[in-house]
Formats: sequence, structure tokens, C-alpha cells
Amino acid sequence: MNSISDLLQGYRAFRDGPYQQQATLYESLGKGQSPNIMIIGCADSRAEPAEIFSAAPGQLFIVRNVANLVPPYEETDGLHGVSAALEFAVGSLKVGHIVVMGHGGCGGVHASLSAAEDRPVGQFVGPWVRLLDAARDVVLQSGSDDPQTDLELAGIGTSIDNLMTFPFVRDAVESGALELHGAWFAIAHGELHWRDNKNKSFEKV
Ligand SMILES: [Zn+2]
Repeated sequence: MNSISDLLQGYRAFRDGPYQQQATLYESLGKGQSPNIMIIGCADSRAEPAEIFSAAPGQLFIVRNVANLVPPYEETDGLHGVSAALEFAVGSLKVGHIVVMGHGGCGGVHASLSAAEDRPVGQFVGPWVRLLDAARDVVLQSGSDDPQTDLELAGIGTSIDNLMTFPFVRDAVESGALELHGAWFAIAHGELHWRDNKNKSFEKV
């Protein structure tokens, strides 16, 4: 799929296939949504949450950005895109689960490692991936053989920790209404690894 013509051909295939088969579902979704799971994933084209989890329309509330990052709670004026989505998902949709999903070969994580070596990483990517600085420094100081993967995994923990800085997230977690999860998708093998939040390790599921 390279051109807009390819894109529109894909749309026509959707209209004739999946849409036709799910027309009733789409009609009911036209009245509103009530997903119970929020995914915070990377913008990377290879880690598509709906595909990986075999999710139907209406089942996943998804935010994707560079390196699946959640900034910490801030009260400053600003354009807080992830925070707005979180507020809506937790406050209005009342999702029961938030999954932060990272992936192998993440360009945003690579940018964070590049910045540590003073290589240029972009006007907007640079400041954004500074959210990984603390995790990155721990990984680099550990003498890791594979800092890219180790930072992909550690960055998922950073986002989960940052989720807990939002008062409405913390309240929902503490009341048992919301659970936070981490996952990492190994693209080349199509395998998902799930985070054990207690010992911060990942196991293939
Ligand atoms: Zn990525």
C-alpha cells in the first residue's frame, strides 16, 4: 500500500467485506462506544493493537504516539493529548484496564539512546523521548548487552508509573475499578510478552 489509490482500494475492500459482515455492529456503534480496555501503543506501523488482539470495532480505546509514552500528570496549561485521552477513558468511559504496549525495534526508544550520545534526534522527538531519560540512564549504567530492548521494556514501566501520577487513575486503581498492565510485542516473531507488575519482568503469553 503506497498510494492514495491503494488506500481507497483498501477502503472499498473494507466496505464490501468487514463492513458488510458487521453492518449491524457499526449501526449500534453509531450510537456510542463502551470499550472496557484502553491501549497506549506506539505509532509504529508494525505494532497494530486491533490486529494483535483480534479486536472488533468498539472494543479498544487506543492512543498511539512515539514510543507508547505517558507523560506525568501536570497542572500547567498545555496541549496534553495523552492526558485528555486518559481523562476521557477513565472518567467517562470508565475502562477497567489500561495496557501500555511497547514493541521491538522502537524508533522512539532508539532516539532516546541516540540522544544519550548527543546525536540529533529531532525538534519534537528529542523533548518527547526525554520522558525515557531516567529509565535510559538506569539501563545504560547496568551495562546491558541489549540497551534497545531493555529500554523498550523499562519504558513500559515508566509509562505505568506515570499513569499512577494522575489522581483519577490512582483513585480508580486503588478502588479496584482499574488495572494497569504492560506488554511488549516482538514484531519479527509476532509474539506478545506480558509484564508481571510485581517483579517488572516480561513473560511470553
Ligand atoms: Zn515504537
